[in-house]
Amino acid sequence: MINFDLKGKVAVVTGSTSGIGQAISLTLAQYGADIVINGFGNPDVIEEQRSTLEEKFGIKALYSGADMSKPKEIAAMMAMIEEKLGSIDILVNNVGIQHVDAIEDFPDEKWDLILAINLSSYFHTIKAAVPGMKNRGWGRIINNSSVHGLVASPYKTAYNASKHGVVGLTKTVAMELAEFGITCNAICPGAAATPLQKKQLPGLAENYGISEEEALKNVLLKEHAIKESISVSDLASFVLFLCTDACKTTTGTAIAIDGGWTAH
Ligand code: NAD
Repeated sequence: MINFDLKGKVAVVTGSTSGIGQAISLTLAQYGADIVINGFGNPDVIEEQRSTLEEKFGIKALYSGADMSKPKEIAAMMAMIEEKLGSIDILVNNVGIQHVDAIEDFPDEKWDLILAINLSSYFHTIKAAVPGMKNRGWGRIINNSSVHGLVASPYKTAYNASKHGVVGLTKTVAMELAEFGITCNAICPGAAATPLQKKQLPGLAENYGISEEEALKNVLLKEHAIKESISVSDLASFVLFLCTDACKTTTGTAIAIDGGWTAH
């Protein structure tokens, strides 16, 4: 029997006011973890998300609006969590943004921002969480990379570079923490139906000279053997599994959950 009980653990999920992160925070709360959600959005909607987690699952839920492109805000968020909840046991680095453009048109500021959010923030949160995890002799670090951490698609220079970087970061952290009861893994989702997916359709449609519907079918899902977007709750279930003792020797991996994209 796998023990999925996360009571007594504190989980932080960056970029969790929407999409995959929101689903992960819901699942970890459902299995008893105290949760810190993070991200942008309408304050009333975020408060509703936070209070619903507490009321529905009887856990503590905090919200941090820290901007993950800003190392000082990340450090303050991580310190606040340790102070208010006592530990950070599960760190899910999930925040990510996207921009699609041909390399010669790719705005420098977008490159810098994508690298800061999609890659550097993962480094900063891990650096802050590791001392406490080492002291307690237990930790789970799960980095949301992408199928684009394993293979490339055109017009996504910064995204692909950041996501490949996350895989390298994951392997290195796994090596360093192997003797401390801490695992570090990356999940590599294929196309998942979230606002991030929706937002890139106009740019892809323009670059390929096709409609947005065709961009979804013929570009985003083109390489999927299973021609459907990955469900966010399936991704969240996978993250939950990585938190269990059944995965105590699974570390340094980049696990494709991609409808068969990278199988061919
Ligand atoms: P999303 O746009 O639905 O959610 C992104 C979240 O990040 C939101 O909560 C947003 O408020 C937050 N955010 C954005 N910038 C932020 C910042 N500077 N500071 C703090 N929070 C910030 O996206 P999603 O599709 O759920 O993507 C989540 C992760 O999954 C990303 O890392 C993405 O690259 C990865 N991913 C997505 C897909 C996909 O097809 N949707 C596929 C593979 C990997």
